[in-house]
Amino acid sequence: KEVIIKIAAGEVVAGPNSVVKELLENSLDAGADEITIEIVDGGKAIIRVEDNGCGMTAEEMKLSIMPHTTSKISTIEDLYSLQSFGFRGEALASISRVSKMKMISKTQEEEIGTQLEIFGGEIVDEKKVNAKTGTIIEVEDLFYNIPARRKFLKSESVEGRYVTEIIEKFALSNSVNLVYLRDKREIYHFTKDLDLVTKCLKIYPELKSKDLIEIFYEDTSIIISGIISNPKVARSNRTAQTFFVNKRYIKAASLFSILEKGYGEMLEKGKHPYSVIFIDLPPDTIDVNIHPQKLEVKFKEEQKIVMLLKNVIRESLLKKTK
Ligand code: ADP
Ligand code: MG
Repeated sequence: KEVIIKIAAGEVVAGPNSVVKELLENSLDAGADEITIEIVDGGKAIIRVEDNGCGMTAEEMKLSIMPHTTSKISTIEDLYSLQSFGFRGEALASISRVSKMKMISKTQEEEIGTQLEIFGGEIVDEKKVNAKTGTIIEVEDLFYNIPARRKFLKSESVEGRYVTEIIEKFALSNSVNLVYLRDKREIYHFTKDLDLVTKCLKIYPELKSKDLIEIFYEDTSIIISGIISNPKVARSNRTAQTFFVNKRYIKAASLFSILEKGYGEMLEKGKHPYSVIFIDLPPDTIDVNIHPQKLEVKFKEEQKIVMLLKNVIRESLLKKTK
């Protein structure tokens, strides 16, 4: 039984980047607007996320690492709604089973906080500690108890880069004060008030603000907004094409190709533009594949969305490059 549980947890937790993603979403759900993320050795040695959210009592902390517990679903319909990020109630339980985890948390009402140490899902230590309101979760030695999975983690630099990419996406789609340290070195410091252009320039330092073109379209059922790049600064790959549908990061070849159709002949062969595009529409008009590792979406009115997206890109480019 033990083994089955571990394997299941190992499937939910793909690697350091998926741990970071779950912890960040929990901090956001907890109402935090200050988040510090630290990783050591690509996240394989340490992942630490500190937030100033609502915190948890000792009782809630213990509940949070039990499988199938979530404080976020009250009706079955919630399961299908995209409004709240977490919905599976599985993340902390899974992560705690495949690592050595330390949690420190304190709610506003409490004088003193609680620290739990959890090894492979078992609480091995509990004590009261001084703490600020909020939560610190430290994940040490991911997959230490599943050598087969540990072995398949990539190098420090590759795993670290995956974590950095998750943080970039998170920063692009949320307004929070966010500090990111990798092996004690500060990689990013986003402040709450930054606009999208400024965030893009931090993430893509090779760009200048004159290379960026804002796009915007709105009607009663859809808003398309964001930034695309001047065709002249396009890249030789598509790694800088980012889409969010209802704030959720989506990686879909179909969206990449609509984007480039919008550029049409303006784009040199083999070149790919930058984009950070947000598509917001009523949740019941999309179907997101909610498997933890999938990032796909189906639009019910696909043809209409394709046309609108292509047109807003094309028109914004024509206006700007005239
Ligand atoms: P889910 O987010 O799907 O509910 P998780 O396993 O990610 O499931 O978290 C379990 C529960 O632990 C959450 O529902 C929440 O109540 C609590 N929790 C987790 N992280 C935090 C945090 N950073 N601050 C406050 N509460 C948290
Ligand atoms: Mg969660």
